[in-house]
This record gives sequence, structure tokens and C-alpha cells, in this order.
Amino acid sequence: MKLWDETVSKAKVRLYMDVPLNGGAVITPSADDAHYMLKVMRMGVGDHVALFNGKDGEWLAAITQASKKSLTLTANEQLRPQKNDLDVWLVFAPIKKARLDFIAQKATELGVSGIRPVMTRRTNVGRLKDDRIWANAKEAAEQCERLTVPEVMPACALDELLANWDPARKLMFCDEELSGSAAHNALQKVSRKGLAGPWAILIGPEGGFDDEERALIRKQPYAVPVHLGPRILRADTAAIAALSIWQVALGDW
Ligand code: SAH
Repeated sequence: MKLWDETVSKAKVRLYMDVPLNGGAVITPSADDAHYMLKVMRMGVGDHVALFNGKDGEWLAAITQASKKSLTLTANEQLRPQKNDLDVWLVFAPIKKARLDFIAQKATELGVSGIRPVMTRRTNVGRLKDDRIWANAKEAAEQCERLTVPEVMPACALDELLANWDPARKLMFCDEELSGSAAHNALQKVSRKGLAGPWAILIGPEGGFDDEERALIRKQPYAVPVHLGPRILRADTAAIAALSIWQVALGDW
């Protein structure tokens, strides 16, 4: 599959900006993006960037004015139209910083539409910075050719999450106690029935789920308990493995 054509390769920088994009749109990037373009990438008037905003596809824009600290971009050509994303969330019990960053980046590369931290009994990370997750997701989306940045939803408690769950969204419950079937078998069964629809993948904390939580999740009609093989994976490995299997069975791989 060819992702870049000759016009796109004019732009060595690709950025998400939350601004309307259309032919002739004049854009003033944020101070951070301006710093990145001017100082890190040493760009100037006449250089091009590829822009996306999650709604209007991807646009080629030229730097039309630049000073020491700020610049103006003008969008002039649509490179790709917007297309619908797969609808799969990653719901996970947050872990320590570096590995949390890693999960946000890898889940974005693997195509999640939403990232939702969930607090379980054995989660031992206190306050979470949603904007840190979002910043990692944005950067990953910029480098992996996505046209959207996944939505980062606020953290909530597991019972609250389940109480407000839309039953149309299936939940791939990754259970380290191996209570479910092998993930690829369980999902292939679903895909043979042609039930794609919205999905979410649930990954527990390093301490695992406790028995009451496990029972509560399994009780939900939308839950599909699965295992990821006979070894206990760390949460970040489990998230990547589960998303890969989901992509093969129900996604766009
Ligand atoms: N401390 C726990 C392991 C938790 S691993 C224990 O020793 O039992 C963190 C999370 O990764 C789990 O809650 C589960 O969601 C997922 N996970 C890890 N290995 C898995 C496996 N083999 N099958 C299914 N899920 C797994």
C-alpha cells in the first residue's frame, strides 16, 4: 500500500492542528508547533508541512510568513480525504510514566479510536495526566500517517465504567487467569458471524484483576473473555498483543 505520493514528500513534517483545513486556510500554529518547525526542523518561508485535524483529511500547507518565533501557514492542496476510523478503544489500568507513554503511542499506531484509563482495585497509580496521554497519542498519530488522534477519555472506576457501558460495544476482556478462550479463536468466531461494530479491549493492572472484578466483568453480556497464551504478560505487552489479534480478526490488517 502506497501512503505517500510525490506531493506529500514535499512535506517532511506532518502535524495535527485543531484548526479548520480547506483550500486557502491561513493557520497560525501554536507556540510549540512553531518552535518545532522553526528551531528543530529549521524550516522557513516556502517549506511545506502536511496537516490533519481529524475531520478534513490531510492538507499540504506552505509557510507563507515567518519571524523568529512565529509563523503563518497557508493550506493549498488536499492530499487525502478524511476516512472513517475503526471503532476500537483501549481500556487499561494505568501504569507508571514511561510505560504509560509507551502504551499511548503503540495503541495509537495500532489504530485505536479511543484511550480510556480505568481504575481497578489493584491499580497503584494515583492522579493521571490526560494531557500527557494525549500528547503521546498526538505525536504517534503524526508519525504513523493517521488522519485522527485517538480520543483520550477521562479516567474512571471500573464499576462506574461498566455501569455506563453501551452494550453495543463488545469488550475483549483480557484475563490473565486464562478463563476465556484463546483470543484469536474467540474473535474469529465473532468475525465469522460478521459482527464487527464497536469494540474495546480491557487490560488490567500489574497486580491483575481481583476475583470480584473478574466476576463482575464476566457477568456483562457484551464481555468476551479471552486469554493471550500461557505466559503472564506485562500490561503494555498484553495491550499490544491484544490489539494485534483484534486487528487481524476484526480490523484492517
Ligand atoms: N499480576 C498479575 C498479572 C497482571 S498482567 C498476575 O501475576 O497474575 C496485567 C494485565 O495484562 C492483566 O490484568 C491482563 O489484562 C493482561 N494479561 C497479561 N497476561 C495475559 C494473558 N496471558 N492472557 C490474558 N491477559 C493477560
